[in-house]
Amino acid sequence: MSEVHELKLLWPNEDATLDFAQKLALEPGLSNACVALVGDLGAGKTTFVRALLRALGVSGTIKSPTYALLESYQLERLGQKWEISHMDFYRFTDPSQWEESGFRDVFVSAGLKLYEWPEKVASLLPKADLEIMIQVSADGSREVTLRYNPLTFLFDKCAGQVTK
Ligand code: ADP
Ligand code: MG
Repeated sequence: MSEVHELKLLWPNEDATLDFAQKLALEPGLSNACVALVGDLGAGKTTFVRALLRALGVSGTIKSPTYALLESYQLERLGQKWEISHMDFYRFTDPSQWEESGFRDVFVSAGLKLYEWPEKVASLLPKADLEIMIQVSADGSREVTLRYNPLTFLFDKCAGQVTK
């Protein structure tokens, strides 16, 4: 079992969020990854997912899954169908709701899983391959901590990198 790597980034504005989303979109390990997005309301989790989906080639409206809990997308990657699931667990008050809503099926299926508020159902989720923690600074910039499996993601030379 490999250790978790940590990388700190600074996103001064939304353009920096977009830049990182474009970088992540190129990571080959993304195809079946579990990507957890952690941060307060308004931190920029959905903004980031939107930017990533756009970078991957999703066109049309990208809705926040705040109410529907799950928004699904189908793309093609390397000639194969590719399923992407964007979830938001904010409204869960009891982990049993997660089971009842059928999310276990999403997590055992192939595809990219992007999910906001993992802490609401923490014990039920598999270990994330990548956790993106976003904190808003007093000046509105975002301090971002990536925790990732180095066998899945490389993150070579990230713009806005604070420390290694
Ligand atoms: P969350 O999903 O975390 O609740 P949203 O992405 O819905 O947050 O909203 C974040 C808000 O912050 C949006 O108004 C967006 O324009 C803004 N925002 C997102 N990322 C950044 C950033 N890197 N710098 C400045 N503002 C940002
Ligand atoms: Mg959100």
